[in-house]
Amino acid sequence: MNSCLTLCTMRQFVNVVISPLPSPLTYEVPNTFEVRVGHLVHAPLGKRSATGYVVECFQEGERPLPTTFAIKPIIDVPLSTPSFLPSQLEFFEWIASYYCEPLSIVLDNAIPAFAPPRYEKIHSLTGETLPERAGKKQKEIYRFLSENGPTHYKEIITRYPGSQKSLQGLESQNIISTAQKELKQSYIQHQEVPEWTQRGSLELSVEQQTALTSIEKHIHDMTFSPFLLHGVTGSGKTEIYIEAILQTLELGRSALIVVPEISLTPQLVDRFRARLGNNIAVLHSGLSKRVRWDSWRALLEDECKIAIGARSAVFAPLQKPGIVIVDEEHDSSFKQSDGFRYNARDLAIVRAKMSSCPVILGSATPSLESYYNAAKKRYTYLPVRNRHATHQSLDIDIIDLNSCKKADMPTRNMSKELYDEITQTLNRNQQVFILYNRRGFASYLQCESCGTPAECPNCSVTFTYHQSKNSLLCHYCGLTMVPPQYCEACTGEQAFAAAHSHQLVTEISESHGRYVPRGAGTEKIFEELRELYPEANIDRLDRDVSQSEKDYRLILDRMRSKETDILVGTQMIAKGHDLPHVTLVGVIDCDVGLHMPDFRASERTFQLLMQTAGRAGRGTEKGKVLLQTRIPEHISLLRTKDHDFKKFALEELQMRKAAFYPPFSKMLRVVSSSQDRNLAQSLLKRFREILEEDVEGRAAGSIMILGPTGAPLEKLKTQWRYHLIVKSDRIQNIHRCVRLLKSVQLPSTKLRVTYDIDPQDML
Ligand code: ADP
Ligand code: ZN
Repeated sequence: MNSCLTLCTMRQFVNVVISPLPSPLTYEVPNTFEVRVGHLVHAPLGKRSATGYVVECFQEGERPLPTTFAIKPIIDVPLSTPSFLPSQLEFFEWIASYYCEPLSIVLDNAIPAFAPPRYEKIHSLTGETLPERAGKKQKEIYRFLSENGPTHYKEIITRYPGSQKSLQGLESQNIISTAQKELKQSYIQHQEVPEWTQRGSLELSVEQQTALTSIEKHIHDMTFSPFLLHGVTGSGKTEIYIEAILQTLELGRSALIVVPEISLTPQLVDRFRARLGNNIAVLHSGLSKRVRWDSWRALLEDECKIAIGARSAVFAPLQKPGIVIVDEEHDSSFKQSDGFRYNARDLAIVRAKMSSCPVILGSATPSLESYYNAAKKRYTYLPVRNRHATHQSLDIDIIDLNSCKKADMPTRNMSKELYDEITQTLNRNQQVFILYNRRGFASYLQCESCGTPAECPNCSVTFTYHQSKNSLLCHYCGLTMVPPQYCEACTGEQAFAAAHSHQLVTEISESHGRYVPRGAGTEKIFEELRELYPEANIDRLDRDVSQSEKDYRLILDRMRSKETDILVGTQMIAKGHDLPHVTLVGVIDCDVGLHMPDFRASERTFQLLMQTAGRAGRGTEKGKVLLQTRIPEHISLLRTKDHDFKKFALEELQMRKAAFYPPFSKMLRVVSSSQDRNLAQSLLKRFREILEEDVEGRAAGSIMILGPTGAPLEKLKTQWRYHLIVKSDRIQNIHRCVRLLKSVQLPSTKLRVTYDIDPQDML
């Protein structure tokens, strides 16, 4: 029984999940309401009213009712249609059980907030004739409606200002009628498709065709099958996606495309729209509440057959998905890093499996997890090697900064080689990309005497120094302050010494303990380039300058039209831009990410360098890449130079295996945080004991516990942080650990614990 119809004589009940409650609650449905699975309802909860989703409907007698509390009736059903599809429930339940979270939390994250419908009035003629005595305005409106047909209230008022009274008069005489029409926000961008996206149909290369043929088979047979599409940037993966989607649509099924937030650019959507039509709903967190809801609803009502979006799009309410695509599948942003920590890439596979359809994971540098799955034949490996956009190969050189003489370097961050290469590229009238990826660890202030950097007092991270505003910013808690001139430790020390030696304060050395700017951010590199190349047009792309989609588009458009000669940026420049006149890519410091205390540091650096290198030579000219480093022997750099993904993957997988890291183990990271350092630490010590004692309950297989130790980000927003890592070859063991630890009563309300299954963020 799925639906509780009105006028039923039997009493109707529903189970409702209310966030963040761990299990559903039963309510009665008064027979004035019609309620189905997926409906949003208001229901009494204690003394207040709460909002939840219906996950089950049943009649009196169909199952035993809870006896421990009185069953109350639901209060209201604000929306006449359900907010998710009953077919999605199995998926949501699977997620809840995998991440050991209540279903209510999953639904809360999956379903966007509902925006109440907005209506507009539409007036039309009823057919009654207008009496002679009608006013001038009434006659004008009457004539307009008879010539133009039904018209929006707003339009009439704009054309005939002050005509409200006249309209009311016409209405009361039954000469015009008024209808309410729901106003829908455009989830589809109804703009003209830019010219560069318009391409005639292409002839696929042999490799593209081979890949498509194996995917096609599963689209037509409607069978689950995971594919790893491995092809460098520009090898034509997107063309394969488009062809596969076209075939899926022909069968009347729908398509889901998940991309990293950062590559969900208007350009990408434009390209899909140009080939697939205005049939696309875009979903991501940056949209307004209303547009998000309307996009969601367009999918729910099957008005749109394609959902494209960032992480949360994996929940899109698609009817009959026939293909699921995850582009840049290696990207760590598919994992939500706070709150409910799900991985959209992994869920995309589950979704495809439940929908009996193929799933394509595409990347130029697949994650080691996916590559390993392909090696184990769990995924079909589809290589695409040709570069369509290029006719020439890449030339990649490593520049060892250790052997560069300071005097030869044009600036502190730029080697002579890179400088010369930029000059030559500009002389040839070609464009340059300069990557400087400080990932928030941008330039900082350092004490000249003791070497201590200026740190945020709330978080154990170095403040970022922003020269243009002369301010310090903590990239974790957002604290900003005017930079102090002197290091507190050193000046304090000196003042102490001075006081005890009866020296005058004026005698204290002026340079002792002074802060000087160190390191560099994109901003600094930008300044340096401006000095070196005063004639060139230089632009910058990072979060600070491109806060909106519009800024981002403008910066890239200037690059595309060749207005810009050099673009400096963070990893934002590394992703998915097809700019044919960029022939040189310079990486200022490849080592930025290598020192991170994260077992994926080498993998991430390798991916970033490979992606960045792929930006060079997308046109007909040969591309060149220069990598500046102080660790020239690192495999992330050497394999980038050889452009040898396979070798990198095999070497890195060996290390992972030896250290029992994913993909050879399943991992759980438990983080405790508190203002009381001791409390945070001792809780995890206790947790470790609990896990060690629980030997019998464990499934077969091994389990390894690391820690507790201070988290690399030891202090964050005034909280001290500790972490405990559990590795096992079986997910069942990980689940058991989480359930066990979650059942422990925390000794203090001043403690917070988070559980991260399959963690990406190790800081
Ligand atoms: P990827 O998604 O792997 O980065 P794209 O699909 O964006 O690669 O392809 C890169 C460029 O090559 C695009 O401009 C695309 O239109 C073009 N392209 C792809 N496949 C073909 C083909 N078979 N014939 C001609 N051009 C192609
Ligand atoms: Zn801070």
